[in-house]
Amino acid sequence: LIDNQESGYQFYSDEANKHLKEKLELQQDLRKALGNGQFHLVYQPQVDGIAKRVCGAEALLRWTHPEKGFVSPAVFIPLAEESGLMVEIGTCVLREACKQSVIWKSQGVEKLTISVNISGKQFRSEDFLGTVKSVLAETQAVPEMIMLEITESLAMSDVDKTVELLADLRALGLEVSVDDFGTGYSSLSYLKDFPIDELKIDKAFVDGLPNNKGDQAIASAIVTMAKKLGYKIVAEGVEELPQVDYLNALGCDLIQGYYFSKPLQPDDFLKYYFELESN
Ligand code: C2E
Ligand code: CA
Ligand code: CA
Ligand code: CA
Repeated sequence: LIDNQESGYQFYSDEANKHLKEKLELQQDLRKALGNGQFHLVYQPQVDGIAKRVCGAEALLRWTHPEKGFVSPAVFIPLAEESGLMVEIGTCVLREACKQSVIWKSQGVEKLTISVNISGKQFRSEDFLGTVKSVLAETQAVPEMIMLEITESLAMSDVDKTVELLADLRALGLEVSVDDFGTGYSSLSYLKDFPIDELKIDKAFVDGLPNNKGDQAIASAIVTMAKKLGYKIVAEGVEELPQVDYLNALGCDLIQGYYFSKPLQPDDFLKYYFELESN
């Protein structure tokens, strides 16, 4: 490796260094982003596919980087998680979503649930329950309007602890949803005792609908099981009308995806909400 001009190793380590440098820089930038108002939330409608009403909104975090512009949450959330920033960011997200629920309520929005993604580090943080309580008290949000989304793999990672915390959160009046369902190898025997309100079928299974036999089997099994257990069921990543028709026929409660709408700024969300109400 002395004469390394042409060696793959040198090339590899240059690339790796560049990668690492970029990552460290982004983590530095994330630290500043919170204080500098570079984060905001957008809201994706969740639509009752039969009644054509907006019943829910998933809050999704957006970061406008001063030089790079849009950075995907799929990139920066794991970085924030790794650098210990996600708990603080997550609390801000929850606070913002709670404030938004109060604003929309005052603007005449009825029976809407805002779903907030909760990361692993956040959910397992020292006093998550206490944080949620104080955010609710501070914002005066109606707990019944807020739903917490945790991923299936997080839910299954420490079942006893999870069940206890979810029960405490639901006792506050909040709802709980299991995100990315079907990807996390749940033991179905656990699922029946989970204190939850909703399951979200992962986009991975929605993509193959309505034609792929395997995805048909999985989607219909999830919907049937969710119904029997008394959980609401949401399909995510729905892009085409035939998917909507198929999921409606299965009895899926809510449809989320580009077919109805991309994530929207709060004002545009409000417009969309009343547009569907008036039809
Ligand atoms: P997720 O929770 O599974 O969110 C759904 C993602 O699918 C969102 O991507 C959404 O914009 C996208 N999506 C919705 N409908 C469609 C569709 O019809 N087609 C396609 N191709 N995509 C669709 P987004 O906003 O880029 O977020 C990516 C992930 O980042 C989220 O996946 C979630 O895991 C994470 N994330 C976003 N915001 C937050 C947050 O505030 N806190 C935490 N902890 N995670 C977040
Ligand atoms: Ca989610
Ligand atoms: Ca999801
Ligand atoms: Ca997903």
